[in-house]
Amino acid sequence: MAENKKGGIAVETEHIFPIIKKWLYSEKEIFLREIVSNACDAVTKLRRLASLGQYEPDGEGYRIDVTFNKTEKTLTVSDNGIGMTEEELEKYICNMALSGALDFIEKYEGDSADKNGIIGHFGLGFYSSFMVADRVELITASYTGAPAVHWVCTDDGSYELLPDAERTRGTSVVMHLTEDGEEYLSEGKLREVLDKYCAFMPVEIYLTDEEKKEEEPKEGEEPAAPTPVNDTEPLWNRRASDVTDEEYKAFYTKLFRDFNEPLFHIHLNADYPLNLKGILYFPKIKENYESLEGKIKLFYNQVFVAENIKEVIPEYLLMLRGVLDCPELPLNVSRSYLQNSAYVAKVSQYIVKKVADKLTGLFKNEREAYEALWKDVKTFVEYASICDKKFYERVKDALLLCDTEGGRYTLAECLEVAGEEKTLYYTTDKTVQAQYVAMYRARGIRVLVAETLLDERFLEMLEGAGDGVKFLRVDADTAAIRGEGDAPEANEALEALFTAFSTENNKITVKLERLADATVPAILTLSEESRRMEQMMKMYAPDMPAMPRESVLILNVASPLIARLAEGGYGDKASAVAKHVYMLATLSHRTLDADEMNAFLQGSYEILTDL
Ligand code: ADP
Repeated sequence: MAENKKGGIAVETEHIFPIIKKWLYSEKEIFLREIVSNACDAVTKLRRLASLGQYEPDGEGYRIDVTFNKTEKTLTVSDNGIGMTEEELEKYICNMALSGALDFIEKYEGDSADKNGIIGHFGLGFYSSFMVADRVELITASYTGAPAVHWVCTDDGSYELLPDAERTRGTSVVMHLTEDGEEYLSEGKLREVLDKYCAFMPVEIYLTDEEKKEEEPKEGEEPAAPTPVNDTEPLWNRRASDVTDEEYKAFYTKLFRDFNEPLFHIHLNADYPLNLKGILYFPKIKENYESLEGKIKLFYNQVFVAENIKEVIPEYLLMLRGVLDCPELPLNVSRSYLQNSAYVAKVSQYIVKKVADKLTGLFKNEREAYEALWKDVKTFVEYASICDKKFYERVKDALLLCDTEGGRYTLAECLEVAGEEKTLYYTTDKTVQAQYVAMYRARGIRVLVAETLLDERFLEMLEGAGDGVKFLRVDADTAAIRGEGDAPEANEALEALFTAFSTENNKITVKLERLADATVPAILTLSEESRRMEQMMKMYAPDMPAMPRESVLILNVASPLIARLAEGGYGDKASAVAKHVYMLATLSHRTLDADEMNAFLQGSYEILTDL
């Protein structure tokens, strides 16, 4: 070549280069992903040509080398892929596909949230190297055997073709790092970035410190065989039937550095109409302190793209962890793209369906194991069912309700033994409501447990879902725990004795009933509606003064104590005894407030003193 060929990048480079530097500053590690994934693409293309018979492989393994040299301040990414001819270099690198890119930049300038989206969308991938370099060399030789090309570009956008081009097939990108880029001259830093973005790329990547490479191995020491930094065959690409449980678990541990075993996994493998692969894990959520935040790592053809993309997964599934490889997603995804993408919406729906299928599958085929899992998945399944009707419809036959004896039943199973009314009973606190629970249990009635507000909302959701089921807390009424025999006759004196305890805030209506359990003199009931209303007020209008409580005090005429009171058997102690009975009924119904507690203790001491 007589004269070096010179030129300028075919856009208003004086605009583009400062922007590349400025805009992408906070995400500058992305440049390595861009350059290494270009190298990876170059190998993939050559592999494709070989498989089509258009290229005769020379037996040399495909590889990518990331090397750095602290003295020279260079970082080099080399591949033995397809390479470029001079024309191709001109076409793909010099004429950046920037039509419209400048408009875009002007429009979004200052909108830092979206800066990640611009690179790549406009073929800026290669030029992201200028975030860390002020001079980039490209030495490339096409697989076709065309002469090699040595091209150098500086950060003012001017380039030069040098006559000394020499190399075998493939491409090397030599980045002369600026002060800002010098942190990438460390093995630790490079490994960290490669681990993040390139851990599963399909071509082996080797990381070498050029200066150490030349050191002779110490005497008597075998030089260690180099190992690639990446795993070229990630588990998600394999067929589920070929992967063992152990492998799934090991993969989870490696990905998330979580040594707790996940509860179960879902291997996704769809190609039509949705093209996606992945593995989702349901983590074991530790109680109390751990946040529920999961992690979905998003890949594009084995190149890491992003993590925790809320749009890809419905909010109620956010604690799922795993990997998704979506080759239909652009490598550089922007928030606004994700929010409006029909593809992303489909991915999300697909995941919901797969999770629901997994649950119903476990329920049908491994009921025992599924029951054992239930306590860990319950919260999320309940929440998901409340949030998303579609999800609920898919899983409804596999939803379980727990009872006080540790049993787990489907709603249908509960209704089978519930009788015509379709009434099911539950407790919100097995300890506080123990007496009621015992009364139901004594009659052979199953008592479900709804210990959290979410459980209660879930029961309400089931009521609304249309089976006609009705849930009553054990202290809502006495229909199921009454004894045989005639309805008791009214007894005004007895009723008056108790009605006297009614206060403005705790209104009581007294009723005589014959309960099956004669040992219990009195219980308090509060209708399901009133209690739910009370709870709702507390939640949504916590500052409103509480409405007076209106409960019903049931006096059990089958109880010897009540019989004795009715006969005047306690003489002038009648009121004290009645008060005590009332307090005991209250105690078994709800927590006492401070005044009630003191009064109750004082009353008890007095009774003991009198004995
Ligand atoms: P993109 O990768 O988004 O197309 P880039 O600016 O990163 O944009 O690269 C532009 C083009 O340059 C690529 O599409 C490819 O044709 C070519 N190219 C870049 N790097 C290499 C490489 N290592 N080997 C062969 N061709 C390459």
